[in-house]
Amino acid sequence: MTSITKDVVVIGAGAAGLTAAHELRRQGLSVAVLEARDRVGGRLWTDTVDGAVLEIGGQWVSPDQTALLETLDELGLETYPRYREGDSLYRGRDGELRRFTGELFPVSEETAAAMTALIARLDALTAEIDPDAPWAHPDAVALDTISFEAWLRAQSSDAEAVDNIALYVAAAMLTKPAHAFSALQALLMAASAGSFSHLVDADYILDRRVIGGLQQVPLLLAERLGADVHLGAPVHRLAWSDGGVVASAPDLEVHARFAVLALAPTLFERIGFEPPLPRLQQQLHQHLSMGFVIKVHAVYDRPFWREAGLSGTAFSPYELVHEAYDNTTHGESRGTLVGFVSDQRADDVFTLDADERRTRILDALARYYGDEARHPVVYFESDWGSEEWTRGAYAASFDLGGLHRYGPHLRAPIGPVHLACSDMAGAGYQHVDGAIRMGRAAAADILTAARR
Ligand code: FAD
Repeated sequence: MTSITKDVVVIGAGAAGLTAAHELRRQGLSVAVLEARDRVGGRLWTDTVDGAVLEIGGQWVSPDQTALLETLDELGLETYPRYREGDSLYRGRDGELRRFTGELFPVSEETAAAMTALIARLDALTAEIDPDAPWAHPDAVALDTISFEAWLRAQSSDAEAVDNIALYVAAAMLTKPAHAFSALQALLMAASAGSFSHLVDADYILDRRVIGGLQQVPLLLAERLGADVHLGAPVHRLAWSDGGVVASAPDLEVHARFAVLALAPTLFERIGFEPPLPRLQQQLHQHLSMGFVIKVHAVYDRPFWREAGLSGTAFSPYELVHEAYDNTTHGESRGTLVGFVSDQRADDVFTLDADERRTRILDALARYYGDEARHPVVYFESDWGSEEWTRGAYAASFDLGGLHRYGPHLRAPIGPVHLACSDMAGAGYQHVDGAIRMGRAAAADILTAARR
């Protein structure tokens, strides 16, 4: 067992932990980053699969994500836009596939009016929500004790409008069914992205990608930290007191004045805290759970859908693959589609064997793009549910009523233990931008405490 002493031990080498460590070291404190996996990046993972460079985890950058954009700039990383020329596709409740341009789905006039009204109502409510304190809204309790689905149904009797508006937050963001989280949680999701309209506008929220892959953010930060990053070091015990902390991994022990827990709160129970965390935190973390989505990549010898004037963008709340995009990698002549299978549908297809699952998912893509979609040259499913150091995707959210009850205490440090991860962010919640904001905030709090 090696024992080292540092000012700060950071547990988790995702975007949040590495941002915190980098910032602390820049300000003159010594750090050790302990990472359970044999790679850095956590939910950011760019890999080559059968010769295709794929983003297995997070990839898109939107214009409001200023913390991420600043980091990209600082690290000298360049971005490129998502391909979006041509028509998008939508399959509605009647089962018919329709082409469209712009944001609003090609639905009947009545459904379009109902959707426009719901978006306007949600935009107005979102404008009243502080993403860093949604619980401070005067109607927070009422909004947090009704499911998003029930709230939508109370606003509109148009089933297709409700299904579509639910899709933007449920399948597409929190990756849970709309009956499983509150209207307030949905408003936090929208407020964290600037407005509800931003969630509706794929051209905004899924705007750009990073040349070479988004995992370069953690990789380059880790490179700067050098030997202070320890891989294969899962922390299983954290002793803490006002005097400092001792973090223990199988072969390494770090004594420090402060700790940053930079992992999803759904994984805190893997760590034995001594003494146990305070009652409130022990309760709070049980009310958060990960959503679940399968990100599927299908690479073809060419982007054949473009020849038919299609952008590659497709949506349907009634399809196994509820959203899909052209995800062709920068500089590639081959064409890539990415599709998403969310929440219970993801559970269901994982009861099938791998061949059957692939057939079902490719059939769903073929229902959008035609028969050619059945024959990719590379096929890959990201399964974050089976990754023991993540256990779901994209991120964690509160159960019904949890946000107003526990939210105000979510980010509070526990003695010398500070918290940072995208699951706890306000602005940038669930996104890399939020992870970076949380990493910066934890570092700033520690610097203030260290100077006292
Ligand atoms: P993590 O990345 O989860 O990092 C936590 C780290 O802690 C991990 O490396 C983990 O191994 C480590 N760890 C856990 N337990 C321990 C322990 N006991 N000891 C030591 N280490 C431990 N965001 C976007 O902005 N744009 C997108 O397009 C996007 N798409 C996504 C697609 C997918 C499929 C997924 C999964 C996520 C996506 N996200 C996206 C979300 C984004 O990737 C995450 O919000 C962000 O990367 C989280 O960073 P983090 O540092 O907070 O947490």
